[in-house]
Amino acid sequence: MLSKVLSKSSCAACKFCCSFRRQSLWETPLFPPEVVEKLSLPNEYGVVGMFRTVDDPQKSCAGRLVLENNYRTADPEEEVACTFLDPERGCILKPEDKPFDCSIWPLRIMNKDGELVIALTPTCPSIGATPRPELIELVKNGLGEKILEYAKAHPYIIKEYREGFPIIYL
Ligand code: SF4
Repeated sequence: MLSKVLSKSSCAACKFCCSFRRQSLWETPLFPPEVVEKLSLPNEYGVVGMFRTVDDPQKSCAGRLVLENNYRTADPEEEVACTFLDPERGCILKPEDKPFDCSIWPLRIMNKDGELVIALTPTCPSIGATPRPELIELVKNGLGEKILEYAKAHPYIIKEYREGFPIIYL
């Protein structure tokens, strides 16, 4: 969804957003219930995920990927990769199974003082910490609305606002 501002090749080479330190576990991918059901059992990808049901006002049984048990050291800088990341090929999931959250990263929809805002995760190595004009234009010209619509139907993707995440106003 961000291919106009973020090339597939730079994402493929980076994979930053597919690996998680302990302090980033709040960002592990969120999957809709039907995909949780599919990926929790033997499936076409040959990889079974472990999920925890997320708090969701709609009680939808959406799931967050559980990676906590995969750390091997006590080093807070240790990163564990998403279960569905292949070191050579990148994300192994087909578009229909890939979490919406992953498709819009580094954008996030967040609740700031009761209002929904689109914010930029400031740690993406390719996009940087400040929204560039092209990114702002993309959000204002349709992508922001698309994210808002999805979040209304899938409120579990809405995160609490965090300081330091620049807001892109629609
Ligand atoms: S689901 Fe795919 S895109 Fe999302 S974090 Fe895992 S490997 Fe990366």
